[in-house]
Amino acid sequence: MSRWITGLLAALLLLLLAAVGWSTWQFAHYRPADVPVAADPAALAWFVDDYATARRDFLARGDALAARLRDVQRFAIPVASASGVPDLTVDGLYIPAQGGEKKRLLVVSCGVHGVEGPVGSAVQRLFMHEFLTAEALEGTLADTGVLLLHAVNPYGFVTYRRVTEHNVDLNRNASTGDELYRTVNAGYALVDAFVNPQGPADTASIANRLFHLRGVAMIARHGMPVLRQAVLQGQYHAPRGIYFGGQAPEPQLQALAPLLRPILDAYPLSMVIDLHTGYGARGTLHVLVDPPRDARVRAGLEAVFAGGSIDWTSGSDFYTVTGDFAGWLGQLRSGGVHLPAVFEYGTMDSQTTLGALKSLHVTVLENQGVQHGYATPADRERIRRDYREMFYPSSPAWRTKAIDDSRELMRTVLGRWPQLEPPR
Ligand SMILES: [Zn+2]
Repeated sequence: MSRWITGLLAALLLLLLAAVGWSTWQFAHYRPADVPVAADPAALAWFVDDYATARRDFLARGDALAARLRDVQRFAIPVASASGVPDLTVDGLYIPAQGGEKKRLLVVSCGVHGVEGPVGSAVQRLFMHEFLTAEALEGTLADTGVLLLHAVNPYGFVTYRRVTEHNVDLNRNASTGDELYRTVNAGYALVDAFVNPQGPADTASIANRLFHLRGVAMIARHGMPVLRQAVLQGQYHAPRGIYFGGQAPEPQLQALAPLLRPILDAYPLSMVIDLHTGYGARGTLHVLVDPPRDARVRAGLEAVFAGGSIDWTSGSDFYTVTGDFAGWLGQLRSGGVHLPAVFEYGTMDSQTTLGALKSLHVTVLENQGVQHGYATPADRERIRRDYREMFYPSSPAWRTKAIDDSRELMRTVLGRWPQLEPPR
């Protein structure tokens, strides 16, 4: 080989190594920028880190509403913990329509994914404080009932996990029939080894340092839509794997169903706003909606969220989920119309390839640590910190924006909601 070819190859090799090094550094330090919003202490005060304090505040606000309004019902569903986490409950507050006719039911739920509970609870309590005033409930909302569900996955809220103590993702688990648990996610086998590594979680391992490159190779081989669907759809055969949907409804869903059915059925029209974090552009409040088969559902959602950005989850960067909680509430109804909407407060720019890979890596490491332990205490700390940061950002700008956006969207929604005619 002539000297110049050797030189060229050496230069290319150096270039390649530099590219790998540069991308590895980028991936390790990935953190999308916040939108420039000045921190507002009043907004920040809504965020409470721990479940017990958030719960107490929710209950106290419920007490105040019950003292002021007619026929308010409260219920608490205890959630047993095999590992001994005490005092876990899903709390419900139902305010029946205060006027004559029961036309519409508005449901606001949080903490279906436990670690997303601190943000969801903050928004839910803000909603109670600013919008569930006696004036509104006896005025423009007089024929609207309101149902609030706080911390649907309290175990995950306490432990900062997305899933329940049984490693079940409640948003892949909610179903009124058994067929869901026999769903075969055919693509999961493609990704299983990649997303469910064995052995203690070690952030310094080569496999983890080069996770992004392995991800890019997988994308090149199978295509992003296939991988996204395989990972995120939910799976029902690997109880220790990520996005496990369980093999039966989780106990709190079983306990909630008979309580919620008569409440939902008392109104011909219902809508749920289920509060989530993690998906989408950082600092943006997305309204996610599965493309409805029922034209009335589509028309209703468009009327309520018109002008805002509804993300119909049917584009190429979306995926379909089986067993979602918002849709399950509609399955509980024996008739009428149900509008399922998910609010997602984006944190990681997961709509980008880099953001999606980083989100997946954080998810994989967290589950690996829980299932197989950590290589070092520092790994445990870092993995848990990154996971929490993905679903509950510490950034004051991010949190202020989440509160500001929620207030604005809730105001719009509640302004339009009373105009929506229930089906006959
Ligand atoms: Zn979520």
